[in-house]
Amino acid sequence: MEMSSQSFSVFMKFALVGAFALALSLVAQDASKPETHGINVVNMDRSLMPGDNWYLYCNGGWIKRTELPPDRARIGVFTALTDLSDKRTAALIEEIAKSNPPAGSGQRKIADLYNSYMDEAAIEAKGMAPIEPHLKAIAAISNKKELAFALGQTLRADEDALNNTNFHSPHLFGLWVAPGFNDPSHYAAYLLQGGVQLPDREYYLSDSQHMRELRSKYQTHVAAMLKLAGFSDPDARAQRIIALEHAIAEKHLSLAENDDVHKANNTWAQADFPTKAPGLDWAEYFRGAGLSKHASFIVWQPTAFAGEAALVDATPLETWKDWLAYHLIEEYAGYLPKTFADERYEFFGKALFGTPQQRPRWQRAVTVVNRLLGDDVGKIYAQRYFPPEAKAQAQAMVANIVAAFRKRIEALAWMAPSTKAEAQEKLNTLYVGIGYPETWIEYSGYQVRPDDLFGNMWRGNLFEYDRQVARLGKPVDRREWSMTPQTVNAVNLPLQNALNFPAAILQPPFFDPKAPAAANYGAIGSVIGHEISHTFDTEGSAFDSAGRVRNWWTPEDLAHFEAAAARLAAQYDAYKPFPDLSLNGKQTLAENLADVAGIAAAYDGYRASLAGKPAPEQEGFSGDQQFFIAFGQNYAAKTREAALRQQVTTDSHSPAEYRADTVRNIDAWYLSFDVKPGQMLYLAPADRVRIW
Ligand SMILES: [Zn+2]
Repeated sequence: MEMSSQSFSVFMKFALVGAFALALSLVAQDASKPETHGINVVNMDRSLMPGDNWYLYCNGGWIKRTELPPDRARIGVFTALTDLSDKRTAALIEEIAKSNPPAGSGQRKIADLYNSYMDEAAIEAKGMAPIEPHLKAIAAISNKKELAFALGQTLRADEDALNNTNFHSPHLFGLWVAPGFNDPSHYAAYLLQGGVQLPDREYYLSDSQHMRELRSKYQTHVAAMLKLAGFSDPDARAQRIIALEHAIAEKHLSLAENDDVHKANNTWAQADFPTKAPGLDWAEYFRGAGLSKHASFIVWQPTAFAGEAALVDATPLETWKDWLAYHLIEEYAGYLPKTFADERYEFFGKALFGTPQQRPRWQRAVTVVNRLLGDDVGKIYAQRYFPPEAKAQAQAMVANIVAAFRKRIEALAWMAPSTKAEAQEKLNTLYVGIGYPETWIEYSGYQVRPDDLFGNMWRGNLFEYDRQVARLGKPVDRREWSMTPQTVNAVNLPLQNALNFPAAILQPPFFDPKAPAAANYGAIGSVIGHEISHTFDTEGSAFDSAGRVRNWWTPEDLAHFEAAAARLAAQYDAYKPFPDLSLNGKQTLAENLADVAGIAAAYDGYRASLAGKPAPEQEGFSGDQQFFIAFGQNYAAKTREAALRQQVTTDSHSPAEYRADTVRNIDAWYLSFDVKPGQMLYLAPADRVRIW
């Protein structure tokens, strides 16, 4: 799972990047002051008591003086670094475009894709023409057999169950190609539920006032899109499309249920589908998807597959055709004339995320280039922004934190020796990727034209799908990356027993080669610890050192772990960002556990790095205090209400403030800041959750 929240695939990625200048105070130095490294004291509010309001103690100064720009749903360290990475990437792309690279070269593709996004006049001039043939093909569907084929044609590699966690696809189903649950040395085809536009089933089923209002706006939006595309009777069609999405959502598993890999480990032969999920002509579906010859699949949510297939049979053909047409228009609206892009933004940007204004076009263009040609850009990015010295320093931190985990595991009284041995073996085989991948994706089969944005997007999605399908059955490269170097995030890849820390997250304030160790361990160190701990937690305990699905814990180990986990879930259930909305301690449990484990191990790694020497003070703060403040400053954030509600409902990560507050589980925090009983965040020693 990844470190930061990106749960609602494409749109969330769009919402994460934007206005550069305002969030920058989290990242860059103020030019009028001497350069400093380490914690940012100006961003704190030292008038508060750390034990009462830890989050604002660390970040109150920044929160007070920072306004959310109109084109953002949220800002924080992640968005500020993403802005920095985008700005650097855009400069690289512009350089490339100016150098007039030779036709057919990788650099020519980057330039052409970027320019095709920026050329608004060409997009307007083409109007609906690029999408027309696809809409005509949908209109020509005359029976359920043809429908099944068309549904198969929409399958894309657009979900990811365990790495960059994303359980959302607007297509009927989604494909994820990854090492097999039962044979981790070969790539397998995972099929996942899909078929709805809104981020999660809750958006269709929840009875809250907020959700009911959103659904009413959604109805207006779907009708508006159909009208723009020239459909007759748009209101009635919209109503039927949404009723179908609602029926699909009812068959979906919840996000908490999706986290259980044991429930997800269902191998279906292709021949099993008609009996296990009747209603859809599966032979036609797989033919449409180009998967006729692929013999077996891992079906993540069998009940959803049965339910959705039955809906194909039970729902009139005309409704499905409208659903297909609307879903196609919606998916590509951002690459059609402005009226479509604006209407899409009106709902998905403003209503769903509460962001009043779209990001500048160049930033959206960078996002598109990163998505479709990310490794080609990343190769140059890594060379320029991640020197070998920084890589060596980050690798030394990883070594100290891994060593801290070894000691913690060895010292556990509750864990059986056999379990400890397997945990140590997982540390032995763990691959920690720092900065950039060892091999790069080859884009030679992807055709890019300077005046054809729609075609570039269409072919790009298809290229990625074909690339993934071509890997099925092939040997796994455990050192393969799932993020580009210019991505501000970090990820644990459980089936590969591997971690990726891209170059773009290894930047100040997370990681600064010139900062004191305390700040680096508190900031990026706790992120590294977070990802390592996923190797051993509820998620990691399902996979052994080879990445195979095998529970290597004894029942007694598991019982102890679950009891401690239940206490942490209760701690988070009690947080209430809104009077009518609490956190879901179970939905966020794996991430909250990783936060506690991550900071504990990073703290040990930090102490070890001092090798007995005293830590330098910064502005009167001791080394330990700097460590915890740096951790708290990771989570400086401002979020719009709609976006925060969306996060609480759909994200496996808790909102920033509550992630920072997890210091209340760490004994050293109490000593560092003299936190006493009676203070808001105080927990009696017996109530602090310690697992590792
Ligand atoms: Zn995580």
